[in-house]
Amino acid sequence: MEPHVKQQTINFGAGPAKLPPPVLLQAQKELINYDGIGISVLEMSHRSSEFTQIINKAESLLRELLKIPDNYKVMFLQGGASGQFSGVPLNLIGLKEDKCADYIVTGTWSAKAAKEAEKYGKVNVVHPKMDSYTKIPEPGSWNLNPSASYVYYCCNETVHGVEYHFTPETNGVTLVSDMSSNFLSRPVDVSKFGLIYAGAQKNVGCAGVTVVIVREDLIGHAQKECPIVLDYKVQAEMKSLYNTPPCFSIYIMCLVLEWIKNNGGAAAMGALNKRKSDLIYDTINSSDGFYVCPVDEKCRSRMNIPFRIGKKEGDEALEKEFLNGAAKRGMISLKGHRSVGGIRASLYNAVTLEDTEALAHYMKEFLKEHQ
Ligand SMILES: *Cc1c(COP(=O)(O)O)cnc(C)c1O
Repeated sequence: MEPHVKQQTINFGAGPAKLPPPVLLQAQKELINYDGIGISVLEMSHRSSEFTQIINKAESLLRELLKIPDNYKVMFLQGGASGQFSGVPLNLIGLKEDKCADYIVTGTWSAKAAKEAEKYGKVNVVHPKMDSYTKIPEPGSWNLNPSASYVYYCCNETVHGVEYHFTPETNGVTLVSDMSSNFLSRPVDVSKFGLIYAGAQKNVGCAGVTVVIVREDLIGHAQKECPIVLDYKVQAEMKSLYNTPPCFSIYIMCLVLEWIKNNGGAAAMGALNKRKSDLIYDTINSSDGFYVCPVDEKCRSRMNIPFRIGKKEGDEALEKEFLNGAAKRGMISLKGHRSVGGIRASLYNAVTLEDTEALAHYMKEFLKEHQ
């Protein structure tokens, strides 16, 4: 295997997803002998001065890139984003007497989070269940409970390609968001949130670490049964080192954060991600109904673009042919989620404009051949 050749494969996977090639090369270079100390990050004590530097640097880069206010703690936890489906209610449902939380359910991930929260308190889904997850119900129609401990939503529904392009108004109730699949893909005003969390493996690293950003006054309200590794008070006080953290995943995330900073930060990522997704949506919109994205234009995701080929329900034989042709051109992981079918192109930060142009070009070619 020749590790330094230019990447021929374009990975449009929904997660784990493409990492920036400079990050992989640096990790390769440092794998065996980190910073001249003669051992790998994989072998290093999580209490060593070298690892302390890595985890501190990851936190300060994150604080800089997202302009995180000083009254917020940043934690690097295990258990995946799904771990926070439990972590959030276990820590926050008791903020108010009623032990009730509002959930805005706009896709698979928020539905799973709501279901998990039901184990620990009362869950109020703020709008009637939708037949298909292709839109965000009008905020004016949400039935928000003023005595809820928090309002929860998933900022980008990875499976359905539904993204919030606004921050929900909660009339002062603590706002919580799962940003796993659009974290650091654009600037975000952290001060509007009580808590933001994100698994790293979509936009900022590899699987194994979940970032939790939480306002200090929300810490220290955990339920008695909360597992200690999910207890924000313990993890915040111990700076995510209550037990062995996912050291290597934190190291990779640190490299990705550095790469984001060197490439202009969250604002530059936001501008580029808009251009990339516009290119694919324009290709869909100008295909005369050959490509169909079922998602309402107002909430189409810049990160995950689901579409069907041929007629509204999708022509499965044609879609298969599309995927095979894409694979021949080195474009992989374009198959839609099994619950949705069709095609899904994920355009996370590490996917370049050139990668996206290659896909748009192929889509136009395929259209011409099959129209
Ligand atoms: C991928 C994803 C998850 C689940 O992440 P795990 O790390 O596998 O638990 C949760 N929420 C969203 C929005 C995701 O994209």
